[in-house]
Amino acid sequence: MQIVIAGNGILGLTTAYRLLRKDADAKITLIGPYDNKGCASLAAAAMFNSFAEIDNGTLANDIERQKFLFNKTATPYWPDFLATLQSESGLRQEYGFGTFLINNHGSDCLEDQNFDAIIAALEEFNEAYEHVKPESIPNYKPSVTGRAARAIFINGEGWVNPVLLIEGLKQILINSGRVNYVNAYVKAIHREGDKISHAILNNGEKVYGDQFLLLSGATFTDIVNASNLDIDFLRIFYGVGSSLLLKTDAMTLANCVRTPNRGLACGIYSAPHDSSHTLIGATNNIMPYPADNANANNVYSLLKSAMEQVNTDYYRAELVKINIGWRPTSADTIPLIGKTSISNLLVATGTKRDGLHCSPLISECLANIVFNENPTYDLSLFNPERAPVRIYTRDEAIKIAVGHTINAAYQHDFVPAKNRMVEDLEKYYTQDLNKLHDSVGAYDWGIPPELINMYRYGHIK
Ligand SMILES: Cc1cc2nc3c(=O)[nH]c(=O)nc-3n(C[C@H](O)[C@H](O)[C@H](O)COP(=O)(O)OP(=O)(O)OC[C@H]3O[C@@H](n4cnc5c(N)ncnc54)[C@H](O)[C@@H]3O)c2cc1C
Repeated sequence: MQIVIAGNGILGLTTAYRLLRKDADAKITLIGPYDNKGCASLAAAAMFNSFAEIDNGTLANDIERQKFLFNKTATPYWPDFLATLQSESGLRQEYGFGTFLINNHGSDCLEDQNFDAIIAALEEFNEAYEHVKPESIPNYKPSVTGRAARAIFINGEGWVNPVLLIEGLKQILINSGRVNYVNAYVKAIHREGDKISHAILNNGEKVYGDQFLLLSGATFTDIVNASNLDIDFLRIFYGVGSSLLLKTDAMTLANCVRTPNRGLACGIYSAPHDSSHTLIGATNNIMPYPADNANANNVYSLLKSAMEQVNTDYYRAELVKINIGWRPTSADTIPLIGKTSISNLLVATGTKRDGLHCSPLISECLANIVFNENPTYDLSLFNPERAPVRIYTRDEAIKIAVGHTINAAYQHDFVPAKNRMVEDLEKYYTQDLNKLHDSVGAYDWGIPPELINMYRYGHIK
C-alpha cells in the first residue's frame, strides 16, 4: 500500500511510525518542510497533562468530560512508547514523569478554583498525587510575592523534549528504507470520484497514492480551500503560541512546575528540556492567519512570570531561543480526527494544546482505520465532517469568558482602582458578549470563549 502523509509534526511522524510497524509492505511518502515552519510540536514543553489541564466545570460539562477522558487515555502510552523509540532510534530521549502543580497569586481566584477542580478530579479518578510544601520543590525559588501557597505532585503526568522526540521518530522512519521524506508543502489534494488521486506540491509535482492522511496542523484549512473536495470541514485557526528556551544550568528543574490554566491559556509552566535547559511556556493568540514571530509582549510576560513565579535566579539564564508554533484550533475547539466521506482520506488536526500528549493514541487510531480495523478509541466526538459541537449554553459561555478575560488582565499587570472597577468591568464584558451573541444568532448556544474574536471579526460566520 502506498500511503501519502501531508505534515511532518508529531501527528505525521507518529502515524507514519505506527503504519510501518503495522504492515511490513506499507510504503509511505511523508511530505513536509524540513525546517518545520510553524510546527506546534517543536514549540511545546511538551507536557503530558490531562488532569493538570482541568478547569473548574470541565468534568460537569458532558463534551469537555469526553475530551478529558480521551486525553487521559493517552497518558499511559508514553513510558513504553518512549522506551521503544529510544531503543529503535538509538537516540537518547529526554523525558520524565511527575508534575508539580502550584497555586500562587499570579492572577485572581479563577486559578484557585481550577486548582481545587484538579484535586477533585484526581480524587474522583483515584489518580496518584500528593500534597507537597511549595518550598520543598527542587529549584523552585519564586519571588516573595510570586510564591505559591499550595502545591501538589501529580505522579503520572510528565514531559518530553519535543526536539529529540521528533528527531528520533524521523531517524526511525528514514532508516526503515520505506519512507520517502519529501521537503515540500502539500498545496492541494485532488479528488476524482469518491477518492483522492494525488497530492499537488508547492513545486508543482504530483504525488499519487492509495491512502491520504492530512496531518498538517494549523494549515489544514488552507489545503482544503485549495482542493476540490466538495465537503465541509470546520475551519482550523492558527493558535499562535510562543515558548522560551532558557539555559538554566544548575537551576534546571527535575520536574515540570506549572500553574493551573489561566485566562484562556495554560498558565505559566516551566519544563526541563535536558539537564541544563528549561522551557518556559506558553502564550496563545488565536488568529485567522499565521505569525512568523512572537510579539514583544509575549516574551516580556513569559520572562517576567518565569522570574517572579518559578525562579528569581533566571535573571542570569541565557535566552537561547524564542519558539513559535501554530496550535491547530478548530471552529468549535474540538479536534477533527478520523475518516471522511472520501473513501481514502483521513484527517487529524484541531488538537489545540493536547496534540503532542495524545499523539500515541491518535496515531494508533489512524493506523487502525487505514487498515480497515476499528480505532482503539471511539472517535465519534471528533467526526471531521460534523456541524460545530455546541459545548456551552449561552450563559455558561459568557460567564466563562468574562472570568477568563479579567483573569488574563491580571496576568498582564492589571491593577484595578480601589472602587467598583472589577464589578463594572464584569458588567461591561457581560453586556458586550450578550450583544455579540445576538449579532451572530447565538441564542441557545454559547461562543467558545477562546473564539470570541474569531466571531467578533467575522472569521466564523
Ligand atoms: C507553545 C506551545 C506549547 C504547547 N504545549 C503543549 C504541551 O505541553 N503538550 C501537548 O500535548 N501539546 C502542546 N501544544 C500543542 C501541540 O503542540 C499540538 O497540539 C500538536 O503538536 C499538533 O501536532 P500536529 O502534528 O497536528 O501539527 P504541527 O506540530 O504543527 O505539525 C505540522 C507540520 O506540518 C508542516 N506543514 C504545514 N503546512 C504543510 C503543508 N501544506 N504540507 C506539508 N506539511 C505542512 C509544518 O511545517 C509542521 O512541521 C503546544 C503548542 C504550542 C504552540
